[in-house]
Amino acid sequence: MVKGVRKAFPDIVLTVDAKAAYSLKDLELFKAFDEFNLAYIEQLLRENDIIDHSVLQKAIQTPVCLDESIESLEDARQAIELGSCKIINIKSSRCRGISESIKIHDLCMEQEVPVWCGGIYAIL
Ligand SMILES: [Mg+2]
Repeated sequence: MVKGVRKAFPDIVLTVDAKAAYSLKDLELFKAFDEFNLAYIEQLLRENDIIDHSVLQKAIQTPVCLDESIESLEDARQAIELGSCKIINIKSSRCRGISESIKIHDLCMEQEVPVWCGGIYAIL
């Protein structure tokens, strides 16, 4: 699917979100994604797999963005120190509110890790 989208739109900024659906067994697949010039791949592995995300990030060129893995400043600090990602998606409703989100933002800026703010919605 990504190959088809990139072929149809060769010049757009393109990202994908894996929604924690994969494991390190899929590492060769992730390496193949490097050819698609993605801005980042989001949350490939389970939320508690910060160590495995570190292995993954070191094995691929495409920046990894962590989403579900980041629920606190401490999560962000560990992810950055382990090299588990190059981008963080801060969702304030998941990250203990605005004050903690600002702390995560400030840490990321100090460490030159770009952030963006995602949203969470509920389907009733
Ligand atoms: Mg996401």
